[in-house]
Amino acid sequence: MTAARNQTSAEDETQILGAIQAWVEREVRPIARQYDHADEYPHHLVTQMQELGLFGATIGAQYGGLGLSASTYARLVTIISEAWMAPTGIFNSHLIMAACVERFGTEEQKQRFLPRFATGELRGGLGLTEPNAGTDLQRIRTTARRDGGGYLIDGTKTWITNGIHGTCFALLTRTDTAADPPHKGMSMFVVEKGPGFTEGKKLEKLGYKAIDSAELVFDGFRVDADRLVGGVEGRGFQHAVGGLELGRINVAARGVGLANAALRDSVRYAQERKTFGKPIAEHQAIQLKLGDMATRCEAARLLVEAAAKKYDAGERCDMEAGMAKLFASEAAVDNSMDAMRIHGGYGYSTEFDVERYFRDAPLMCIGEGTNEIQRIIIARQLIERNPA
Ligand SMILES: Cc1cc2nc3c(=O)[nH]c(=O)nc-3n(C[C@H](O)[C@H](O)[C@H](O)COP(=O)(O)OP(=O)(O)OC[C@H]3O[C@@H](n4cnc5c(N)ncnc54)[C@H](O)[C@@H]3O)c2cc1C
Repeated sequence: MTAARNQTSAEDETQILGAIQAWVEREVRPIARQYDHADEYPHHLVTQMQELGLFGATIGAQYGGLGLSASTYARLVTIISEAWMAPTGIFNSHLIMAACVERFGTEEQKQRFLPRFATGELRGGLGLTEPNAGTDLQRIRTTARRDGGGYLIDGTKTWITNGIHGTCFALLTRTDTAADPPHKGMSMFVVEKGPGFTEGKKLEKLGYKAIDSAELVFDGFRVDADRLVGGVEGRGFQHAVGGLELGRINVAARGVGLANAALRDSVRYAQERKTFGKPIAEHQAIQLKLGDMATRCEAARLLVEAAAKKYDAGERCDMEAGMAKLFASEAAVDNSMDAMRIHGGYGYSTEFDVERYFRDAPLMCIGEGTNEIQRIIIARQLIERNPA
């Protein structure tokens, strides 16, 4: 058992979630379809997110953040995702970078970076994945070699959220390529774009549009030694996986939002659309779908809340976060498909939001550890907690 983490009072939560809901209805929902189809970055939302304090949502108040609990943060992510999932990526992976510094950085690194992360003055994300290594992170090839008082970094990251519009990243490297096992030679750095560190091409995607996913290219990029997270080499892999519990709760919260959105649109449409003289909601085949969809939403929400509650209490929750992520992301995929079927031809139309849910949902099954890996994590934990 570790110390309890951020807590949010019921009063503060009501106020914050109310402000987010109002912002979503006023600014996010009305532009979602247009920006998604144009694949256009919503710059003005970033400014509004700064004003709402979203870039510091989970950063401690002592560093200028809102210090929200994981439970409140998950509800906030769900509210935004019910309207449009993609913009949550702008602050979500940024906050995973911030959590890496807050949990594992030196006090000097916390003082130096966290206040600027919290305001969104410095924005970015997490650089783990490479062209040859995603799930199998120990196979990454980006190296950080000692050079005088600092390090020279070479390599390429891919699929990095906020890669174009962000400037600062928590970057996983290998400082000792001979280490066996490899994770013992891996180190995390906080890096800002500059000579030798450039963004590569913007990656085109099925969904999760308008948000930049890009390659990051390091070619003899020099960083000072004080950029090494925690000041000690060889702990980068632990830093990377240390943020995954919270990351999985966040992805699960997005899944709940998407699943809810698909259900909401379907319940409305099923009452409006008539076939054979009655609303399709009165056909049993449609009711069966709605019943399954609503049950998935409720189960996914409860799993996310249970995992977030454990996280907030400072308890180990890799199994619970894995279950929440697995179930909620699959619920989003299944609900978006059911919504498309309920909408008939209109579900396939770009004039409705259902096709966006259908394109956005599968990402939740991939990010923060694929759902195949979640099942393995759950099974391993199950066995560890229940020795024969
Ligand atoms: C839109 C988008 C945004 C992203 N944002 C970021 C980001 O900000 N930062 C970042 O670092 N990465 C990011 N990623 C990368 C993402 O984390 C990886 O795609 C993911 O971890 C999977 O890695 P991979 O694509 O290399 O697949 P692989 O690891 O090659 O896996 C391929 C398949 O094999 C399965 N598999 C692999 N190993 C096993 C095993 N041991 N047992 C069973 N099955 C296995 C996987 O589940 C998958 O089905 C993003 C990806 C996308 C698509």
